[in-house]
Amino acid sequence: MSYALVTGGSRGIGRAICVQLAKQGYDILINYSSNKQAAEETQEAVEQEGRKAALLPFNVGDRVACREAVEQWYANNTDEKIEVLVNNAGIRKDNLMVWMKDEEWDDVMGISLGGFYNVTKSVLPELIKEKKGKIINIVSLSGLKGLPGQTNYSAAKAAVIGATKSLAQEVARRNISVNAVAPGFIRTEMTEDINEKDVKGLIPMRRFGTAEEVASVVGFLASDASSYITGETISINGGLY
Ligand code: NAP
Repeated sequence: MSYALVTGGSRGIGRAICVQLAKQGYDILINYSSNKQAAEETQEAVEQEGRKAALLPFNVGDRVACREAVEQWYANNTDEKIEVLVNNAGIRKDNLMVWMKDEEWDDVMGISLGGFYNVTKSVLPELIKEKKGKIINIVSLSGLKGLPGQTNYSAAKAAVIGATKSLAQEVARRNISVNAVAPGFIRTEMTEDINEKDVKGLIPMRRFGTAEEVASVVGFLASDASSYITGETISINGGLY
């Protein structure tokens, strides 16, 4: 069976995606940055679904580390293929633009946008060679509507939405689809500083979403059920725009 590479697969939405794709029969490559213990918990959860799970730690914002890790995996696993790439790793460093520090801008762009470029560039030649692949980018409502305090994050996510549309047109002929999902407020460690009670009144469904609700849409985009969809961004936000 083919592998799905999930960046930021150790926790939150990424972990739920790993488990969902394992349920669909994929073996999983779990990328993470530093939280090995969490990555091992994801590994266990994938193995409980009866699939293989391997850890592939690297900082998606580090172009050299990322390329070396992916190249080395291909070199050590010549009989295996990566068929699905989920660009999920991302960070928030919110601040009003007027107060924003250069490193808050650079870190968010480097990981959330640069990570998309670095990992996709490493995997794409193999997908093209195999003439088979699904690339799924986790973006955000913030990249569609903009949110005050998130010029860095909104810019990075909006850029990935643009890249999704361009790359989809470049590789459709090679049987590779490129889509994005745009979550609203989802309960994970990334949003633990936001009080759900204060915000839920803004959300038509009156609650935050779960990582599993995002993962099920990623699962759909990774499956043949979505075979004529590419360049699309699907919102998962309880009706909040
Ligand atoms: P999370 O709970 O904070 O988890 C982040 C994951 O990304 C962790 O697995 C972390 O690895 C990994 N990661 C962070 N920086 C990395 C790097 N430089 N290289 C490799 N991995 C890195 O976040 P989440 O809420 O699940 O968010 C996942 C994605 O959904 C992000 O792209 C986020 O922007 C997007 N999103 C989230 C929400 C939400 O409400 N939660 C809404 C819209 C969009 P470690 O465990 O090693 O730190």
